[in-house]
Amino acid sequence: MKIIFLGPPGTGKGTIATLLNEKYSIPQISTGDLFRENIKKQTSLGKKAQEYVNKGELVPDDVTFGMLKERISRTDCKKGFILDGYPRTIPQADILEKNKIKIDIVLNFVASEKIILQRLGGRWTCRNCGAIYHEINIPPKVKGRCDKCKGELYQRDDQKPDIIKTRLVEYRKKTEPLIDYYKKKKLLTDISTERKVEEIFDEVTVLLDKFF
Ligand code: AMP
Repeated sequence: MKIIFLGPPGTGKGTIATLLNEKYSIPQISTGDLFRENIKKQTSLGKKAQEYVNKGELVPDDVTFGMLKERISRTDCKKGFILDGYPRTIPQADILEKNKIKIDIVLNFVASEKIILQRLGGRWTCRNCGAIYHEINIPPKVKGRCDKCKGELYQRDDQKPDIIKTRLVEYRKKTEPLIDYYKKKKLLTDISTERKVEEIFDEVTVLLDKFF
Protein backbone atom coordinates (compact mmCIF):
# COMPACT_ATOMS: atom_id res chain seq x y z
CA MET A 1 0.00 0.00 0.00
CA LYS A 2 1.79 3.10 -1.21
CA ILE A 3 0.07 6.36 -0.42
CA ILE A 4 1.00 9.94 -1.29
CA PHE A 5 -0.17 12.88 0.80
CA LEU A 6 -0.36 16.05 -1.28
CA GLY A 7 -1.32 19.49 -0.01
CA PRO A 8 0.38 22.64 1.26
CA PRO A 9 2.00 22.83 4.69
CA GLY A 10 -0.55 23.48 7.43
CA THR A 11 -3.26 21.13 6.16
CA GLY A 12 -2.72 18.57 8.93
CA LYS A 13 -1.14 15.86 6.80
CA GLY A 14 1.24 14.91 9.60
CA THR A 15 -1.59 14.46 12.12
CA ILE A 16 -3.58 12.16 9.83
CA ALA A 17 -0.45 10.21 8.87
CA THR A 18 0.29 9.54 12.55
CA LEU A 19 -3.25 8.19 13.08
CA LEU A 20 -3.03 5.99 9.97
CA ASN A 21 0.30 4.66 11.16
CA GLU A 22 -1.40 3.50 14.37
CA LYS A 23 -4.33 1.92 12.48
CA TYR A 24 -2.57 0.17 9.60
CA SER A 25 1.02 -0.10 10.90
CA ILE A 26 2.55 1.56 7.88
CA PRO A 27 5.14 4.28 8.44
CA GLN A 28 4.73 7.91 7.56
CA ILE A 29 7.75 9.07 5.64
CA SER A 30 8.10 12.82 5.82
CA THR A 31 11.01 14.11 3.75
CA GLY A 32 10.83 17.36 5.76
CA ASP A 33 11.27 15.42 9.05
CA LEU A 34 14.10 13.35 7.56
CA PHE A 35 15.90 16.53 6.50
CA ARG A 36 15.40 18.11 9.93
CA GLU A 37 16.79 14.99 11.65
CA ASN A 38 19.84 15.03 9.40
CA ILE A 39 20.36 18.75 9.98
CA LYS A 40 20.10 18.30 13.75
CA LYS A 41 22.71 15.53 13.67
CA GLN A 42 24.79 17.53 11.15
CA THR A 43 25.25 14.50 8.87
CA SER A 44 26.79 15.18 5.44
CA LEU A 45 23.27 15.03 3.94
CA GLY A 46 22.04 17.45 6.60
CA LYS A 47 24.80 19.90 5.76
CA LYS A 48 23.85 19.76 2.05
CA ALA A 49 20.14 20.30 2.79
CA GLN A 50 20.43 22.94 5.51
CA GLU A 51 20.62 26.11 3.42
CA TYR A 52 17.56 25.10 1.37
CA VAL A 53 15.42 23.96 4.31
CA ASN A 54 16.13 27.07 6.37
CA LYS A 55 15.08 29.28 3.46
CA GLY A 56 11.96 27.23 2.68
CA GLU A 57 13.31 26.27 -0.77
CA LEU A 58 13.34 22.78 -2.28
CA VAL A 59 16.41 20.61 -1.75
CA PRO A 60 17.90 19.28 -5.06
CA ASP A 61 16.26 16.11 -6.41
CA ASP A 62 19.31 13.84 -6.27
CA VAL A 63 19.85 14.56 -2.57
CA THR A 64 16.14 14.16 -1.77
CA PHE A 65 15.52 10.94 -3.68
CA GLY A 66 18.74 9.38 -2.38
CA MET A 67 17.51 9.94 1.14
CA LEU A 68 13.99 8.65 0.36
CA LYS A 69 15.24 5.51 -1.42
CA GLU A 70 17.32 4.52 1.58
CA ARG A 71 14.35 5.08 3.92
CA ILE A 72 11.84 3.00 1.93
CA SER A 73 14.28 0.12 1.59
CA ARG A 74 13.99 -0.52 5.36
CA THR A 75 11.95 -3.48 6.64
CA ASP A 76 9.19 -1.39 8.22
CA CYS A 77 8.15 -0.31 4.69
CA LYS A 78 7.45 -3.87 3.46
CA LYS A 79 3.65 -3.50 3.86
CA GLY A 80 3.72 0.00 2.39
CA PHE A 81 4.20 3.60 3.42
CA ILE A 82 2.75 7.07 3.39
CA LEU A 83 4.81 9.69 1.58
CA ASP A 84 4.29 13.07 3.18
CA GLY A 85 6.19 15.81 1.35
CA TYR A 86 7.35 13.71 -1.61
CA PRO A 87 6.94 14.20 -4.55
CA ARG A 88 6.97 17.98 -4.46
CA THR A 89 7.42 18.48 -8.23
CA ILE A 90 6.51 16.67 -11.45
CA PRO A 91 10.15 15.62 -12.02
CA GLN A 92 10.12 14.03 -8.53
CA ALA A 93 6.93 12.10 -9.43
CA ASP A 94 8.67 10.93 -12.64
CA ILE A 95 11.60 9.72 -10.52
CA LEU A 96 9.16 7.48 -8.58
CA GLU A 97 7.84 6.02 -11.86
CA LYS A 98 11.32 5.47 -13.26
CA ASN A 99 12.24 3.60 -10.10
CA LYS A 100 9.08 1.43 -10.42
CA ILE A 101 7.60 2.69 -7.17
CA LYS A 102 3.90 2.21 -7.96
CA ILE A 103 1.55 4.51 -6.07
CA ASP A 104 -1.93 3.18 -5.10
CA ILE A 105 -3.68 6.38 -4.03
CA VAL A 106 -2.99 10.11 -3.71
CA LEU A 107 -4.84 12.12 -1.06
CA ASN A 108 -4.91 15.86 -1.74
CA PHE A 109 -5.36 17.80 1.53
CA VAL A 110 -7.16 21.09 0.90
CA ALA A 111 -7.53 24.28 3.01
CA SER A 112 -7.86 28.00 2.27
CA GLU A 113 -4.77 30.23 2.38
CA LYS A 114 -6.20 32.11 5.39
CA ILE A 115 -6.54 28.93 7.47
CA ILE A 116 -3.09 27.71 6.44
CA LEU A 117 -1.45 30.97 7.55
CA GLN A 118 -3.29 30.84 10.88
CA ARG A 119 -2.29 27.22 11.52
CA LEU A 120 1.37 27.60 10.54
CA GLY A 121 1.94 30.98 12.14
CA GLY A 122 1.09 29.81 15.66
CA ARG A 123 3.20 26.64 15.71
CA TRP A 124 5.83 26.05 18.40
CA THR A 125 8.13 23.03 18.57
CA CYS A 126 9.89 21.50 21.59
CA ARG A 127 13.65 21.85 21.20
CA ASN A 128 14.15 18.68 23.22
CA CYS A 129 11.54 16.09 22.08
CA GLY A 130 10.10 17.65 18.89
CA ALA A 131 6.47 17.78 20.17
CA ILE A 132 4.37 20.38 18.32
CA TYR A 133 2.04 22.94 19.93
CA HIS A 134 -0.19 25.68 18.58
CA GLU A 135 -0.89 29.02 20.28
CA ILE A 136 -4.63 28.60 19.76
CA ASN A 137 -5.39 24.98 18.87
CA ILE A 138 -2.97 23.06 21.14
CA PRO A 139 -1.52 25.53 23.67
CA PRO A 140 1.07 24.18 26.15
CA LYS A 141 0.04 24.27 29.84
CA VAL A 142 2.93 26.61 30.63
CA LYS A 143 3.83 29.19 27.97
CA GLY A 144 7.15 28.38 26.28
CA ARG A 145 7.53 24.93 27.96
CA CYS A 146 6.76 21.44 26.64
CA ASP A 147 4.01 19.58 28.57
CA LYS A 148 5.76 16.23 28.08
CA CYS A 149 9.42 16.91 28.83
CA LYS A 150 9.48 20.56 30.01
CA GLY A 151 11.85 21.37 27.11
CA GLU A 152 12.01 24.89 25.67
CA LEU A 153 9.49 25.69 22.90
CA TYR A 154 10.78 27.61 19.89
CA GLN A 155 9.55 28.70 16.48
CA ARG A 156 11.36 26.80 13.72
CA ASP A 157 13.05 29.07 11.16
CA ASP A 158 10.75 27.73 8.45
CA GLN A 159 7.69 28.55 10.59
CA LYS A 160 8.42 32.27 10.63
CA PRO A 161 6.05 34.46 8.55
CA ASP A 162 8.40 35.32 5.62
CA ILE A 163 9.54 31.75 5.23
CA ILE A 164 5.97 30.43 5.43
CA LYS A 165 5.14 32.69 2.48
CA THR A 166 8.12 31.32 0.50
CA ARG A 167 7.00 27.74 1.26
CA LEU A 168 3.49 28.51 0.02
CA VAL A 169 4.78 30.18 -3.15
CA GLU A 170 7.02 27.14 -3.78
CA TYR A 171 3.99 24.91 -3.23
CA ARG A 172 1.72 26.77 -5.65
CA LYS A 173 4.37 27.00 -8.35
CA LYS A 174 6.02 23.60 -8.16
CA THR A 175 3.78 21.17 -6.27
CA GLU A 176 0.25 22.17 -7.31
CA PRO A 177 0.79 20.89 -10.89
CA LEU A 178 0.96 17.41 -9.33
CA ILE A 179 -2.78 17.64 -8.68
CA ASP A 180 -3.51 17.43 -12.42
CA TYR A 181 -0.71 14.93 -12.92
CA TYR A 182 -2.31 12.44 -10.50
CA LYS A 183 -5.89 13.34 -11.54
CA LYS A 184 -5.04 12.22 -15.08
CA LYS A 185 -3.78 8.93 -13.65
CA LYS A 186 -7.10 8.60 -11.74
CA LEU A 187 -5.28 8.27 -8.42
CA LEU A 188 -6.31 11.53 -6.73
CA THR A 189 -8.97 12.21 -4.09
CA ASP A 190 -9.50 15.65 -2.49
CA ILE A 191 -9.77 15.75 1.31
CA SER A 192 -11.20 18.91 2.86
CA THR A 193 -9.32 19.75 6.07
CA GLU A 194 -11.42 22.61 7.41
CA ARG A 195 -13.20 20.33 9.90
CA LYS A 196 -12.47 18.13 12.88
CA VAL A 197 -9.53 15.71 12.73
CA GLU A 198 -11.88 12.77 13.54
CA GLU A 199 -14.06 13.57 10.52
CA ILE A 200 -11.07 13.79 8.20
CA PHE A 201 -9.67 10.54 9.61
CA ASP A 202 -13.01 8.73 9.11
CA GLU A 203 -13.20 9.79 5.47
CA VAL A 204 -9.63 8.72 4.82
CA THR A 205 -10.04 5.30 6.46
CA VAL A 206 -13.18 4.59 4.40
CA LEU A 207 -11.03 5.17 1.31
CA LEU A 208 -8.07 3.15 2.54
CA ASP A 209 -9.99 0.20 4.05
CA LYS A 210 -10.65 -0.94 0.46
CA PHE A 211 -6.95 -1.55 0.04
CA PHE A 212 -6.22 -3.33 3.33
P1 AMP B 1 8.06 20.11 5.13
O1 AMP B 1 8.23 19.85 6.58
O2 AMP B 1 7.46 18.95 4.38
O3 AMP B 1 7.36 21.40 4.82
O4 AMP B 1 9.55 20.26 4.52
C1 AMP B 1 10.46 21.19 5.05
C2 AMP B 1 11.52 21.52 4.04
O5 AMP B 1 12.25 20.34 3.66
C3 AMP B 1 11.00 22.08 2.71
O6 AMP B 1 10.72 23.46 2.80
C4 AMP B 1 12.18 21.77 1.79
O7 AMP B 1 13.26 22.66 2.03
C5 AMP B 1 12.61 20.39 2.28
N1 AMP B 1 11.89 19.32 1.56
C6 AMP B 1 10.96 18.47 2.08
N2 AMP B 1 10.52 17.61 1.15
C7 AMP B 1 11.18 17.90 0.01
C8 AMP B 1 11.15 17.40 -1.31
N3 AMP B 1 10.33 16.38 -1.66
N4 AMP B 1 11.97 17.96 -2.23
C9 AMP B 1 12.79 18.96 -1.92
N5 AMP B 1 12.84 19.53 -0.69
C10 AMP B 1 12.06 19.00 0.28
